Formats: sequence, structure tokens, C-alpha cells
Amino acid sequence: MTAPTLILPDRSRAVASDLRAAIGAHKVKDDYSTRTAYAVDASIYRMEPKAVVLVESEEDIPATVRYAVARGIPLTPRAAGTNLTGSAIGSGIILDVSRLNRVLELNREERWARVQPGIVLAELNKELGRHGLLFGPDPSSGDMCKLGGMLANNSSGPHTLRYGAVKDNVQALRVCLQSGDWLDAKAYGLDDSRCTDLLKAHRPLHDLRSLLQDHAALIAQKRPTVSKNSCGYNLFGLADGLARGCFDLPKLFVGSEGTLGLFSEATIRLVEKPRATLTALIHFHRLEDVGDAVPKLLELSPSALEVMDANTLNLIGRAKHGIPGDAAATLLVELDGDAIGNDLRAQAERMINISRRYRLTSDPVIAFDPEQREQLWKARKALYPTLYRFDPKKKPINFVDDVVVPADRISELIRYLEEFFAGQRVPVAIFGHIGNGNAHIIPLLDVNDHEDFQKMVQGYHEIHQTVLGRFGGSICGEHGDGRVRAEYVKTMFGQELYDLFVRVKQSFDPTGVLNPGIKISDRPFTDHIDHVRLSKSCATCAKCNAVCPVYDVFQSEDMSSRGWFEIVTDKNYSYLNSKRVVEACLNCKSCRTACPAGVDVSQLILDRRAENPNKMAGAIFRFHAQTARFEQFLKFLARYQSIWDRPLIRRLLDHLTKPFMHRLAETARLSPQLVLPRLARRHLRDRYPELIPQAGAAARSPVAYFHGCAANYFDDGVGDAVIAVLRKHGVEPALPPQRCSGTPIETYGHRALAKEGARVNLVSMAGYDKVVTGCASCTLMLKDYPTLFAGEPEQAAAQALAKRVTHISEFVAQSPVKPAMAGSQSAKCKVAYHSSCHLRAAGVTKEPRAILAGLPGVDYVEMPDADRCAGGAGTYLVKDFDTSQRIVERKRRAVEQSGADVVATSCPACMIQLRTGLQGAAEVKHVAQLIQEAYEAADRS
Ligand SMILES: Cc1cc2nc3c(=O)[nH]c(=O)nc-3n(C[C@H](O)[C@H](O)[C@H](O)COP(=O)(O)OP(=O)(O)OC[C@H]3O[C@@H](n4cnc5c(N)ncnc54)[C@H](O)[C@@H]3O)c2cc1C
Ligand code: SF4
Ligand code: SF4
Repeated sequence: MTAPTLILPDRSRAVASDLRAAIGAHKVKDDYSTRTAYAVDASIYRMEPKAVVLVESEEDIPATVRYAVARGIPLTPRAAGTNLTGSAIGSGIILDVSRLNRVLELNREERWARVQPGIVLAELNKELGRHGLLFGPDPSSGDMCKLGGMLANNSSGPHTLRYGAVKDNVQALRVCLQSGDWLDAKAYGLDDSRCTDLLKAHRPLHDLRSLLQDHAALIAQKRPTVSKNSCGYNLFGLADGLARGCFDLPKLFVGSEGTLGLFSEATIRLVEKPRATLTALIHFHRLEDVGDAVPKLLELSPSALEVMDANTLNLIGRAKHGIPGDAAATLLVELDGDAIGNDLRAQAERMINISRRYRLTSDPVIAFDPEQREQLWKARKALYPTLYRFDPKKKPINFVDDVVVPADRISELIRYLEEFFAGQRVPVAIFGHIGNGNAHIIPLLDVNDHEDFQKMVQGYHEIHQTVLGRFGGSICGEHGDGRVRAEYVKTMFGQELYDLFVRVKQSFDPTGVLNPGIKISDRPFTDHIDHVRLSKSCATCAKCNAVCPVYDVFQSEDMSSRGWFEIVTDKNYSYLNSKRVVEACLNCKSCRTACPAGVDVSQLILDRRAENPNKMAGAIFRFHAQTARFEQFLKFLARYQSIWDRPLIRRLLDHLTKPFMHRLAETARLSPQLVLPRLARRHLRDRYPELIPQAGAAARSPVAYFHGCAANYFDDGVGDAVIAVLRKHGVEPALPPQRCSGTPIETYGHRALAKEGARVNLVSMAGYDKVVTGCASCTLMLKDYPTLFAGEPEQAAAQALAKRVTHISEFVAQSPVKPAMAGSQSAKCKVAYHSSCHLRAAGVTKEPRAILAGLPGVDYVEMPDADRCAGGAGTYLVKDFDTSQRIVERKRRAVEQSGADVVATSCPACMIQLRTGLQGAAEVKHVAQLIQEAYEAADRS
């Protein structure tokens, strides 16, 4: 069956307008930015859609399906777009289910939940975790992939060994068929009258049952013998059901990759969350020993058993992950303890004894602590995108990425593959779920190089043929067939069974509009390869989307970090066709912190903004740069704040300043709800004249305090606290002259102006051993000056400064002086930490938490989503107040869940945003203020 090219060019523009009329204008997009962002998923392919539907209610699905069928337009369902096979891109309509993302019902006793398809796996498990439950299947993409995609791909992951794949954990699906009718797909007893009714109501179901009965022998004969398979339609599971006397419909739809119907919800089976877990790394000297050790380790009933071969370890960097240079392969083993008191330590002992029978390069590394365990998993989970760093041209290409062989032959498979790729002179990473015999094979190739391209085609056929012929395996364990394996499904199962698959497809989708080109297609796997993108730095893995606050609230790929990478690096990009999205980024840098491939989307966006600096912002920042005049103006505002900051006047100001604010951004406003800080009548520098160095004199103190704008201009006690804390540590800081670090200036595209201020700061801060900061954004900006001045004469000075910048929490943590501390109140105060994005990006995450946890009188609680953006982001809360409030809502819920009385943070914008968003539910303080309070309490006691 060939992918139909069904859209006629002259009709394509009508698609979006027809859909708008049918389901509502705000749910349909077809502008350049949207089509560009949705042209990719995490595969090697690219296809630009004609329109995107952002489903908001169940009714939108049949309405779209009926339209697509009536007009013969390809329809591709999509969740997070993290599949590796090209199955969430298409030439017609993309139906994105991301906004259907709720848990509809949860039954703790019977351990099941009714869930919508747009929920992210990690979010689902967070919610289930509060009830001690877990959804077992765990693709490594769990931070970003969504249930709809997991269902349609029959996903699984490292813990399949214990929990099975998705197909083993689904009770029922609500499926919209090609007719637009809904089907409650459950396992019906064959003698159940509901089953008879369904067979009468839905012809495809009737045909399916006949097909299964008529070809039972063929299906039994062609059943894969390996422990995992996601290739083809799961007629085997259906046949098993019939043998048990039931029509097990979920087995058909799970793994059908959007080609037979669309899901609006699923009833999933849940398991008890393990009470304790152990993770271990075992480094083997000889690959052969791995194959031998696997069956013995399986006797311990591990929940996960993963392998990384020598090449993989080299490619991800052994030193970085503490992997011995002579390890030929590394096994990652995980054991769960279920009952309280279950002795995992005894299990660990058994595991060590098994491992000692082999030549290891070092003792196994064993972790019980969640944080340490996460560290051990880190390299494994981010493996695929990390490989993108390896070479600017040769990229990890997924085309033989998911084979399965009998588990005890995995060493033989790895040896074969290593020899094959050595013969081709192609670097390759081989890793995967060794306990199931499921290997992920990721060669690094330049698909734009003719020779490499030929190697890819040769490898595709040879390796798949070998897996089938020599190993009796499967070409697809968990990633799905998509576009990449569709060509080989026939070879895997033979013509006869393939014909049955085609009959199933034709019966459920007679017009062929449901995800054409996927699973059942005779097009070569090389069709639609994205040659341009595969020479870029982004792996399109969507890890950044998982942390992007804008994506979190809009759930639309054109409003996401990954989407923005596509847009701003596209050859047809222009500021005019993409202004809407380029201006929507908060510059929070969360994407940069999360990206395993080392891409900084926020920087690319800043580069684009620098091409079109905002004129109004430029005028404001130029005024800001005239320090004396600007400060006079602020003092004038401070004097009358008690008047203009009244609710009525704020409303009036909001109204009056609108034309002015619109020149900053269409969404900009001075919302009366914004809780503004008190402006200082005497600025910090006025209050500490003794700390200001004399012009021209040599630095007297080795430590400078870079207070930035907020601590200087706001009367919020932050600057005073930093100075008081430093003094307690025996440091009399200097306050050298300084200009804005540059973050907000660059955010509005005025890079030259940001550099002008940065040059002043470089000179001013040059004579100090340490430059202490209190503000998260200043910390990051000063550390980022080397990038700002890349290739320019100032770069060396910028690098020198970057090394000396120390956040106050780092300073306190490193200080040899340990001042006395005491609780400032009689009762303990519950304190949570909001980790400001820019401080996280600057690498300061542990110190503030450790300090807070050590303060007397403080009961430190780690709140959920502590590492997520709160939506303040410098001036973003002015630039787009409404979106910023949608972002902070999640933080508000997290603070509420934590029960904190105080939220500590270290960014002035975060403080304003939290005060605005929390509406008094908790107090907001700077970390330095809490430290100062503890020191002062000790002085008093
Ligand atoms: C770094 C990385 C690691 C990965 N690790 C694993 C792993 O360990 N195991 C694994 O199995 N996979 C893994 N994957 C692949 C991928 O993440 C999974 O297949 C995932 O479940 C896809 O989910 P998604 O939400 O991104 O779906 P999408 O990519 O959006 O869609 C996948 C398929 O589901 C269909 N679909 C989506 N929603 C619906 C719906 N509502 N109704 C019908 N069809 C629908 C789409 O049409 C498409 O065919 C990994 C991917 C990456 C990038
Ligand atoms: S920018 Fe990084 S995290 Fe985001 S999709 Fe690209 S590779 Fe993945
Ligand atoms: S900087 Fe923040 S808002 Fe901008 S793309 Fe990155 S994560 Fe999203």
C-alpha cells in the first residue's frame, strides 16, 4: 500500500479554513511557524503538514476525522512527537492531542486509571505516585513522551522486564474509528451480547474476527519467538484472546501507530510503586562475559537490565561518566524491593558475587539513594541525543535502531554488529534492554555524504536480514515501524501474513487517510529523509519541550523550544513570518540546561531578536544607561509610590500606558495585579557609601559585590542581606561602579547596548578575587560574558571574570568561616526552594538547598517542580502578563502541595512573580535573607 498524496494544491489552503469553521478557529493553525514546527518529530524524516488541529475536547476528534475522510486528506494523530520512526508527521492534517491531558478517574483499590492521551508519562507517574502507584512501561523518553504515543507505539523501556510493554497494561481504549464513530475497545467475552452488538455495528470488527478465525494457523506459525515485538499488527495477541474466549480489542489498537483509529482515552493498569530500589553499574572487561552473566543476573529478577557497548561508552565520554577506560561493556542493573524491610542489601551481595565470577574492570557501583541512582541512569537515558555532540557532520541515525534477538545471544549480536560497522568504518553505539534481547543500534553517519548514505542503505538491509535469518529475531521491539521499518514488515512476516495486515488496514481505513505511509507501505525507508536537519545540531528529541514553560501552557509545537529551533534555523525564516513565536520565548534557559546535545535554543532566539531590536525597549535601556538621570527618576517614583501604587491608580495606569506598552510587545501591559516591589528612596549604593571604592584607587577588598539593578533600586532587603552575610564571613565587600549585567537588554535584541554595559563591568570587576552575586540572572549573564564577546578582544577578560563570579550561596557554602546560627522564631518554619532558571543554568543548584536545609529553625521541604520556571523571567511578566500567570499557576500548586510557609529563591523577577502568583499563600524571601535571619537570631540569643 503506497502513501497517498491526496491533497490537491489548490485545495490545500481551504483545509485550515474548513477546519476552523468545523471545530473552532483557535484550535486550528496553518501559519508558516506552525507548519515548520510540526514538520519534524524525533525521527530522521521531515514532512510539512497543511494544517494542525489542537484538540481541546473529544468531539474535535470525530469532526476532524470526518472532514479528512470526506476530503481524502491524510490525518496524522500526534502526542509529544518523540517517536523515532516518522510516525507523527504527515502531509495533511496533524491532530495534536496534547491538550487532552488529564487523569479522568483513578481507582486505588483496583489499581487502574482512566487517562487522556496528552498526558506526559512523567506527569502521570507523579500524580499516580501520590497514591503509591505507577504506570509500569517506561520509555527512556518518559520526561517528554505522552500516553497517546505510548499506546499507539506499544512503547516499553528498561523496566519492561518487570512490568511488560504498554500492550500488557491496557484494559480499554476509547477509539474514534474512520467512520467518526466511537468504539469502546475492551476485551469482550465472545458470548457477551455486547460483543455480538459490536460485531453487528462495526463491519471492520466483524471482518477482523473472521480473518483471525480463518487464518489462525498462519498467525500461530508466524508468531515472533522473541520476548518483545512491536512490528506489524498484533494479530497474535488477538488470536490469544480468541483462544481464551474473548475478543481482546486493545491488542489490535495498541501498537497500531495511528493507522486504524484515534484514542481519546485509555484505561490503564497500574502497579504498586516499589518501596525501595537499587541501581548498579557493572563494568566488564570482556564482551563475551556479558552474554554469560545475563541469565545469571536474570535469576535475581531485576526490574531492569541494560547494556552499553564499548563504542557507546567511548562516544558518550567515559571520563565524564566515571566509566573505566578498559570496560568492554557496562551493565546497568536495577532491583526493586517491594515489601517494607525487603533486604535489598542481601540482593546486592548476591549480585556482587555473580559479577565477581567475571573479569570486571572495577567493583560494581551500587546506589540506593534516589539522587545517586538518577546519576547512574543519566547517561543511559540521554544517550541518543548526547550522541549528537560527537561530530558536527556525522549524526546518530535511527534506521536499524530497535532489533530484538534471544536475550542469551545478545553478546553474539553485539560482536556481529561491531564487526559489521568496523568493516564499514562507521562509528556506532549499541545499547539497550539486554534482559529482553532488545538492542538499540545507532550508527553515526553523514546522510548528505553519498558514501555514508549507501552504507546506511546497505546496513538497513543486511542487519535486518541477519536479525531475522541468523537470530530468528524481530526488527522492532518497541519504537514502532513508522516510515523507517514499513518497507521491511513484509520481509519480517512473509507475504501471506503481510496480506492479512493489509486487509486489516483496508477494512478499518478504506480511504487510507489514517496516517498513510506508516507501518503498511511499500515506500522505501529513504523517502522523506530530512537531509537539511540531519546536518544541524538538534536531535529533535524534545527533552527541551519537557522543561519549556511556554510549551507547558500552550501544548503546541509552534510554541515550544524544539519547534523554535526548527523555525529560527529554517531557510525560509524571517522575523516577520515568525515574530509571534520568536517573541514568546522567556529566555529562561531551561532548554539549555536540559539539552543533552548542547543546543542553546534561547541563544538562537536572542540572535534572531538581535536582528530586530525593539525600538521602545532600546529607548528605555538607553535612558537606563544614563545612570544618574535614571536613578533620579526612580527616586522620584519611589517618593510617590504610596500614591501611584494604589489599586485604582494602578488600573488607570494600566489603561493609560497601553499604547506605550504595545510598542514593547503586543501583549505587554502594567497589570494592576502585578505585586510591585517597594522602590528604594535611598538606593543600596547610597546606603553603603563606605563600600564604594574611590575612583582610581586600588581595590581594598578582594571581594566585589555585583548587586545588579534590583538590589540597588528595590527596598526589599536583599542587597542589605547579602552585605550582612558577607560581613559575617569576615568580608567587607566593595561595591565597584556597575551597569546592568545585560540580561534584559539582550532579551529585547539590544546586544550592542548590552555589550556597552558589559565592558564597563569587565573593567570595574577586574581587580577582585571574587565577584559575589545575589541575583540569578546577573550570575548567569556575568558567567556568559565569554559567549557575548566570543571572538572579540574582550573575550579573555570575560573568561577571567566568569571564573570569579560566585553566587552568595556558593560563597557561604565554600567559606571556611562558620558563623553561629539560630532559629529566628520559636516554631520551625517550613521553607521550600524555588530554583531560579538562570541560577540553574549557571550550575548553582545544590548549595542553596543545602544551606536552607542546614538553617536552624527551618524545616526544609523539596517542593514539586522546584526546578521549573515560574514565568517571571526578567521583564516577561510585563511583556506577557497573562501567559506569565498561566505559567506561575503550576508553581502555585506546587507551593500549596509542599505546605511551605516561605518560598526561598534568588532572583528578583522570580520574587515579584511568586508574590504575584502566590497571592500571600506563602512568604517569598531571598536565600540570603534567610541566612541573615539565622545569623542575627544567633546574635540575639
Ligand atoms: C531520547 C529518546 C528515547 C526514547 N526511548 C524509548 C524507549 O526507551 N522505549 C520506547 O518504546 N520508545 C522510546 N523512544 C521513542 C518514543 O519516545 C516513544 O515511542 C513514545 O512513546 C512516543 O510517544 P509520543 O507522545 O512522543 O508520540 P508521538 O511521537 O507523538 O506519536 C507516536 C505514534 O502515536 C500515534 N498517536 C499519538 N497519539 C495518538 C492518539 N491519541 N491516537 C492514536 N494514535 C496516536 C502517532 O500517530 C504516532 O504514530 C525514545 C525517543 C527518544 C527521543
Ligand atoms: S534542542 Fe536539544 S533538547 Fe531540544 S530537541 Fe534539540 S537536541 Fe533535544
Ligand atoms: S529559554 Fe525558556 S521559554 Fe525560551 S525556549 Fe528555552 S525553555 Fe522555552
